[in-house]
Amino acid sequence: MTGPFTLAPLPWKEDALEPHISAHTIGFHYGKHHKTYVETLNKLVDGTRFADQPLEEIVRATANASGDEGKIFNNAGQVWNHDFYWHSLTPKTHKPSGELAKRIERDFGDTLTDKLAEAGAAQFGSGWVWLVSTGDKLAIEKTANAMTPMAKGTTCLLCVDVWEHAYYLDYQNARPKYLKSVLDNLLNWDFAEANLAGGTVRAAAE
Ligand code: MN
Repeated sequence: MTGPFTLAPLPWKEDALEPHISAHTIGFHYGKHHKTYVETLNKLVDGTRFADQPLEEIVRATANASGDEGKIFNNAGQVWNHDFYWHSLTPKTHKPSGELAKRIERDFGDTLTDKLAEAGAAQFGSGWVWLVSTGDKLAIEKTANAMTPMAKGTTCLLCVDVWEHAYYLDYQNARPKYLKSVLDNLLNWDFAEANLAGGTVRAAAE
């Protein structure tokens, strides 16, 4: 996918994640925040060498930039991260299976969701928490603002948005409550398994 970029459709209806994330939150988060990142990215790349580059290439090429290219990174990163976040969530969650389940057991035992919750709560200010695969191991990373582990070539399996706009309407300042609700009820392990297998990193978006 190269520019002009479009707002990819959500993989479920706006009220599908209730009661854990309300349609009200998704309406603003997708319909205002995510949409604005897409529109701003299109304005910023227009007439530049990034206009005909795929989104992932733009993210990687601008990840450490400042100035105008830093602005491009902030919006390109946020478009990629939000597409990835929507696919990381599902109203039809079930336990991980197959190779992914084996690796979770090997690398985390039964502590994975607790550790994701800790990392998400510990991220100071706006950012993201990620389950990633590096080398042969699963790991948890947190990133600030628009950063993504993908920018340095790491395979992302799942992410959770911990910007205040992701939870404030439903949980106010209680980020840990939002994290527990999402981690216990909404994670899309099928998406994580496909990413681990090197499959469709952006699922329906491409
Ligand atoms: Mn967000």
